[in-house]
Amino acid sequence: MQMGFASSNQAPTERTSMPDDNVDLFVIGAGSGGVRAARIAAGHGARVMIAEEYRVGGTCVIRGCVPKKLLVYASRFADEFEDAAGYGWTVPKPIFDWAALIANKDREIARLELAYVTALERAGVQIMKSRAVLEDPHTVFLKASGRRVRAAHILIATGAAPHLGPPIAGIEHVISSNQAFHLEALPNRVLVQGGGYIAVEFAAIFNGLGAEVTLVYRGENILRGFDDDLRAHLRSEMERRGIRILTRQTVTAVERTQRSLRAQLWDGGEVEVDKVMFATGRHPNVDGFGLEAAGVRLAPNGGIEVDGFSQTRVPHIHAIGDVTNRVNLTPVAIRDGHAFADTVFGSKPTRADHVDVPTAVFSEPEVGAVGLTEARARASLAKVDIYKTMFRPLKATLSGRDTRVFMKLVVDGTTNRVVGCHIVGADAGEMIQMVGIAVKMKATKADFDAVMAVHPTASEELVTLREKAMSYDRQAAE
Ligand SMILES: Cc1cc2nc3c(=O)[nH]c(=O)nc-3n(C[C@H](O)[C@H](O)[C@H](O)COP(=O)(O)OP(=O)(O)OC[C@H]3O[C@@H](n4cnc5c(N)ncnc54)[C@H](O)[C@@H]3O)c2cc1C
Repeated sequence: MQMGFASSNQAPTERTSMPDDNVDLFVIGAGSGGVRAARIAAGHGARVMIAEEYRVGGTCVIRGCVPKKLLVYASRFADEFEDAAGYGWTVPKPIFDWAALIANKDREIARLELAYVTALERAGVQIMKSRAVLEDPHTVFLKASGRRVRAAHILIATGAAPHLGPPIAGIEHVISSNQAFHLEALPNRVLVQGGGYIAVEFAAIFNGLGAEVTLVYRGENILRGFDDDLRAHLRSEMERRGIRILTRQTVTAVERTQRSLRAQLWDGGEVEVDKVMFATGRHPNVDGFGLEAAGVRLAPNGGIEVDGFSQTRVPHIHAIGDVTNRVNLTPVAIRDGHAFADTVFGSKPTRADHVDVPTAVFSEPEVGAVGLTEARARASLAKVDIYKTMFRPLKATLSGRDTRVFMKLVVDGTTNRVVGCHIVGADAGEMIQMVGIAVKMKATKADFDAVMAVHPTASEELVTLREKAMSYDRQAAE
């Protein structure tokens, strides 16, 4: 076990003043990564303190994945009520109550927060409800109490925060995802700016709940970084559901009118709405808490620079999760935190593996993706085979809903390995978790084909794709 100053690779520096406590590990930020690291380190016998300036649980639990998925569930009932008619149900006109949804969601989030606090306390971790700043490489100052803590190891797990982009006139009228979870009423008309998964998900949430939604994105198409076919398919599905998507477009100003907001667009157009939400990216929380004083450096991507073990340039200071701006997802932050604790306090050097991370977008319909996109496969492999399909899901036959499922396998033409899978359709997130196992195990297309189909499901298509849609051979192309 690597504990105490004797085992730290760096000599303690001058103290700012006498510390009130000594700990083996001080964790700054009680989000997904910080909480996991604190609990596991304490389990390895370390004396651990954790500071949280807002609410224990962090972004994912308090204002990210969990409340968002609850809103997604709420928004999907609208389609279910409609689809029920084709299956013989007569449903009275449903009435939606935003205040009830938000109150129920808040109650669940409070319950989860308490569960996180309890889990930390049970593990013997001391929780400090305070902003923490670094005074020197070993001293943490707690702003709420004025306490100083001397720590052998420090873990920075401060996450990231919404970034509204360059200041524009009327930016004070713009909300981020943080406020979207606490709106007093459901807006009738919403403009969401951004093309990433948070923008797409909120556009779908507001649309499903009955709002008129305009999605504005400066790029060519939504979901940059995802497979191009998947992006095009999702866009057409969202448009079919009535979401107006304006690409190569930006909001240049927002003006309050008597009863609403007027968003000015780059091309001179205007959109009149009740709420403007920007989901234009997130910035790692690296400012104003003494990183420079501690000698910690930033990477070119704006996050804290770390190595494969999440260690910064200062050997006893580590950083994990969104603050490092690597793969900004909860399971990654949790793995980072666990690996850190095992490495530093469990005598088990562990690197979190950030390759082939499966991911979902909880749009309507849902997206699931893992591994290489077709474009990345073509750029990195000599031969690529593409298998894809688009079909009407069985459920849509009786409901009459105009929707299509899209699935694509990207196969390394030399090894026959499935190196990517991209899905748009109901439960794509659930499917991609399982496909992720196969991709991680380096399954080949022949392995997929050898699996018996589960019938009738949508996912059976993944094991019955026979016809190549495309074969790419770099040598032949050159
Ligand atoms: C709207 C939204 C939806 C998302 N949906 C998903 C999803 O579906 N799936 C998924 O995997 N990921 C999702 N994410 C991303 C996910 O929430 C993050 O990747 C994850 O929370 C990162 O964990 P973390 O521990 O790095 O940081 P965080 O969870 O952000 O925790 C950092 C904590 O540090 C605290 N803090 C910061 N500075 C200080 C300081 N100086 N002193 C004390 N405390 C401090 C903050 O208050 C915060 O609680 C979503 C994010 C958002 C915003």
